[in-house]
Amino acid sequence: MSYESKEELEPLNPRTLEPYLFVSVVLILFLLTIPPHPLSQNDPAFEWHLPYSNIRDGFISKEEAREKLKELEILLKGSYLKTTNVEQRDRLYFPLKGYGPTAIGGKEGSGYQIQDYDFFDGNQHQGHPGHDIFIHDKNQDGIDEGAGKPVEVIAAVPGIVVSINLNWKPSSPIRGGNYLWIYDPIKSRYYYYAHLHEVFAKVGQTMSKGEPLGTVGRTGVKAYPKKSPTHLHFAVHQSVDGYPKPINPYRDLIKGDWN
Ligand SMILES: [Zn+2]
Repeated sequence: MSYESKEELEPLNPRTLEPYLFVSVVLILFLLTIPPHPLSQNDPAFEWHLPYSNIRDGFISKEEAREKLKELEILLKGSYLKTTNVEQRDRLYFPLKGYGPTAIGGKEGSGYQIQDYDFFDGNQHQGHPGHDIFIHDKNQDGIDEGAGKPVEVIAAVPGIVVSINLNWKPSSPIRGGNYLWIYDPIKSRYYYYAHLHEVFAKVGQTMSKGEPLGTVGRTGVKAYPKKSPTHLHFAVHQSVDGYPKPINPYRDLIKGDWN
């Protein structure tokens, strides 16, 4: 028997396996950190998030943006209907926990102004195609003076989170601050929740009606200065052939459920 073959027959020294064992443990730990439904470039919600950032920042033409959103809506509807039990959505859930319609700014919904508004103008848009819903926060620390804690923002209808913005800083030009867009694939509507402090949801997540999605904050170019009372900006857009057109949710907010 040669020296080499004698070597081969020797039992494996456990010490020589240590590096392999270490790599395997690291790999297993890494795999455990991957969520069960990882977001990929093929996730239509994630794909919506990317062109939306380009719309917001004026980096995409209106025609291209509309075509892209139209395409993605078909995919969003498909993935939603495959994985979700369709919930009752005939009534809105008031989007601020502990508040009701009296917290809506303006007189009988006069805060809703859509003159010259175009979704595809992004951050440069005109008008105010939504409602500001104010909380009791005189000292502007984001803590509700009645409840003694931050106010939860809750999903008015079920849907898929298609875009969020996080970590807004006062140096940022983004008007919505920390915001969240949810698409309702059943009615082809987009719901926008802006000026949040915390955002609990992730892009691609399916939300149920009434589920907390964040807290009321003061983020955004016009929501941050002292002259602005702390509020949620809430807007609804009806997709018409890929074009999100604002609709006035005032009547639905009044008729909806709240607690
Ligand atoms: Zn507003």
